[in-house]
Parts: sequence; C-alpha cells; structure tokens
Amino acid sequence: MQTKDFSTLPLSKEMVVNLDKIGYEKMTPIQSEALPHILDGNDIIAQAKTGSGKTAAFGIGILDRLDVKKFRVQSLILCPTRELADQVAKELRMIAKFTHNIKILTLCGGVAFYPQVNSLRHFAHIVVGTPGRILKHLDKESLDLQNLNTLVLDEADRMLDMGFIEEIQKVLSYAPKERQTLLFSATYPDEIVSLSSSIQKDAINIKTTSIESVNKITQRFYKVDDGLKLQTLINIFSNFKPGNGIVFCNTKLECDEVAQKLQEKNIDALALHGDLEQYERNDVLVQFSNKSCRVLVATDVAARGLDIKELSCVVNYDTPHAKETYVHRIGRTGRAGHEGLAFTLYNEYEDMDEYSDGDMIFEDITTLNTVNNFEMKPPYVTLVIEGGKKDKIRKGDLLGALTGDVGLSGSSVGQIDIYERQSYVAIESAFVDEVEKKLSRGKIKGKKFSVWIL
Ligand code: AMP
Repeated sequence: MQTKDFSTLPLSKEMVVNLDKIGYEKMTPIQSEALPHILDGNDIIAQAKTGSGKTAAFGIGILDRLDVKKFRVQSLILCPTRELADQVAKELRMIAKFTHNIKILTLCGGVAFYPQVNSLRHFAHIVVGTPGRILKHLDKESLDLQNLNTLVLDEADRMLDMGFIEEIQKVLSYAPKERQTLLFSATYPDEIVSLSSSIQKDAINIKTTSIESVNKITQRFYKVDDGLKLQTLINIFSNFKPGNGIVFCNTKLECDEVAQKLQEKNIDALALHGDLEQYERNDVLVQFSNKSCRVLVATDVAARGLDIKELSCVVNYDTPHAKETYVHRIGRTGRAGHEGLAFTLYNEYEDMDEYSDGDMIFEDITTLNTVNNFEMKPPYVTLVIEGGKKDKIRKGDLLGALTGDVGLSGSSVGQIDIYERQSYVAIESAFVDEVEKKLSRGKIKGKKFSVWIL
C-alpha cells in the first residue's frame, strides 16, 4: 500500500534522488501522513508498527534537520531492544547515504561501556540506543544532549511494557525543553497517552488505518489438547511448508523444550529468549537471518524489534496474553507486501473471539496430515571467522578468499555479516566442512584467522 511520491515533500533533491536509488519510490501510508508534520517541526504521536516504514518516516525528518558541520548529538532515538536499535541505525545509514560524514552511533546495554565512551569522544550526530544505557552515559557525562533538536521514542509501548518508564523520564530530564518529540507506538494504552501529554507539545495524532492492510496475513486457528501441540506444530510445517518461521512460547523453559524437540524431529530450530548471553543471542539471530536456521522458538520480549524480511510464518504455540501481543506477533509475517501465514494453537478453555480481526480460519487438526520422514533443514550453515571490522576485513576480502584459495563457487556463499571482531558467512551446507578446513589452513588478507562452524 503506497501513496505519494517523496518529491511532493519539501526535501532536498539529493535526498529524493537517494531515496529513489535505494528503492523508495513512493511513501508508505505512515510516511505520507507523518512526514509533512515532522518536516514542519511538529510533535507527533503515531500508531505504527515495525514493517510500516516508520523508521524512514522519522529518519527522513531527522536528516532533514541535521547540521552535518555541527559535531554534536542532534537526534536521539530510544528503542526497547538492541536489535531494534541496530536496525534503526542500519536504516538511517541507508537513508543518510547521500551525505558524507553523518555519524550515527548505537549505544545499547549488554556490551562493554567504555568503548562506547570512546566512540562518543569522537562525536556523533545521531544516537540510537536503549534507555538504560543512554541514561548511564548521561549520568556519567559521556553523552551530552544540549544540542539535541529531535527526540524519538520508537516502539514506546514496548519500552513501557519492559519497565523503562523511569529511565525514559530521567533521559528526558537531560534533554532541552525546546525540541521536537516524535513518539511511535503500535498500541495506545493509557500509559502512552499520559506519557505523550507529559513529554510532548500539542502532539498531532496519526493513525493510518491502512497500515494493517499492508500485510496480507491468513490467520489459522487450531483447537488442540496440550499433548498434541508438538505434533500439530510439526504438521503445520509439513503441510504448509513455510521457508522459515517464528514459534512463540510464553516461557523461556518452553522455548528451550520446543526447540529441542523440533531438532529431535529433524526440524532445524533454535531458541531465542532472555536467558541467553548477548553473544549467544547474536549467534542465533545471525543464523536465522542468513538462512542457516529455519525456525526460531522465541518469547515475546526476545523477538521484539526483529526485522526479518521474508518471514513466511508465525506460530502461536502458546496463545498470547493480550490481543495487542497477538497483533504484534502475527504482524511480523507478510511484511512489505508479501503474504503471511499465522497459526494459533489454543485449548478448549481459551476464547479466541477476543482476537477477532481480519480473516480468521478455524480448522480442525484432522485437516492437517502427518507426513512421515518430514525434514526442515536449512540451505546454509554459518561459518564464523575470528576477524572483523577491527581487522579491516570487508565482504570482498571474504568472498575473495572463499572463491579464490578455497575454490568455492560464489553461488554457494550466502549472506555475509561483518561485526567488530567477528564475521559470519553463510555457506551452502554441503560444502561447509571442506570450507572450514581450507579456510583454517589459509589466510585472509595475508593473515591467519581462527574459523569454526556455528
Ligand atoms: P520499518 O517499519 O521502519 O521497520 O520498515 C520496514 C521496511 O520497509 C524496511 O526494510 C524499510 O527499508 C522499508 N521501507 C521503508 N520505507 C519504504 C518506502 N517508502 N518504499 C519501500 N520500502 C520502504
């Protein structure tokens, strides 16, 4: 669902040309509703969820106001999770491509504090981060918001759910009173309304009713006894054959159990929940996004902010406690115009009427066949290389080493992700053992690196 051209907005020519180059030809509904107000300098409260194009909506506004020559933090974006912060920063960097030297920094918890202090010493124009870590930098005076002109609260309802309200208020006490405040939230509980009135000025309320229809999602419901849930889940996979999927459970323990049982049944699955260390979480997310893992079994908190494009299906293994959570969960499939599939398992005591929204299909579990010897294996396996940006490794270096010395065909190399100290390369499953051996013996950019299979 797209609307007007970006050229109808008072934006620089460079910005419009760049947006066109990155494939943003028309505005999404949230962009065409919100951008004119954002560019006018107004505060807005917008109902928008991940997948609607909200990041570009505030990102374009921020970049329009930014003074590149001023080496001070001019915009701050608060996000509930590190993953969302990383995605926001990535999207901003893409939109900011047309101007050189725009420095965007992410500051999130779960990683060392002092390297961040160091990065801040080298200045940043835009900071994206989680409330706790941002507050710590403000308290320790490593971050200064005196020159801030735009503050964004992204997924504000999630931040409140996660108990960030106090941190948010404290962060705001460091920000100048004269500023533009943009609040994005998938839902509008009372707490959001009161937060808006306490931190915003005459905020313009934007609700794009068409946002939901961007995602075409078929919602299927199966009433099932607890003892048959796992088999029903497997039958869903074998009957609908999704490329990948997220299975939502309500507890960490259940995530682990379901992931393990799926693996025992030859369905490639990994658990994602809050008990994982940050590096383990990153490993899981990389594997899912580079197609070395087909199924994530996750809790709501762990899956917040994930922007996995091409997510074929979402399964509610446990029913969510609130309709809002349901809407949020299923909204992850069917992104950017792709059709999505949502499945919900429920028991006889649970009432699905409260979810009633859109097209709901209630089916008996007997409509699902049990397919013998069904397997769900990933096309790739992830190879980790103990070298990253710090070692000046670029994608081309890795591709060169793999297709040159190792002798792999370029088509057998999947997604490559390069982090500060490590790189992850998706290799077609059949070749990964051989590649690991050869790469461990060989060199990349003339240097030896440890290599292992994840
Ligand atoms: P978001 O809601 O910010 O998570 O954005 C969802 C996806 O839509 C991201 O992958 C964006 O790169 C993409 N996107 C945002 N705006 C546009 C646009 N106007 N045209 C095409 N894609 C867009």
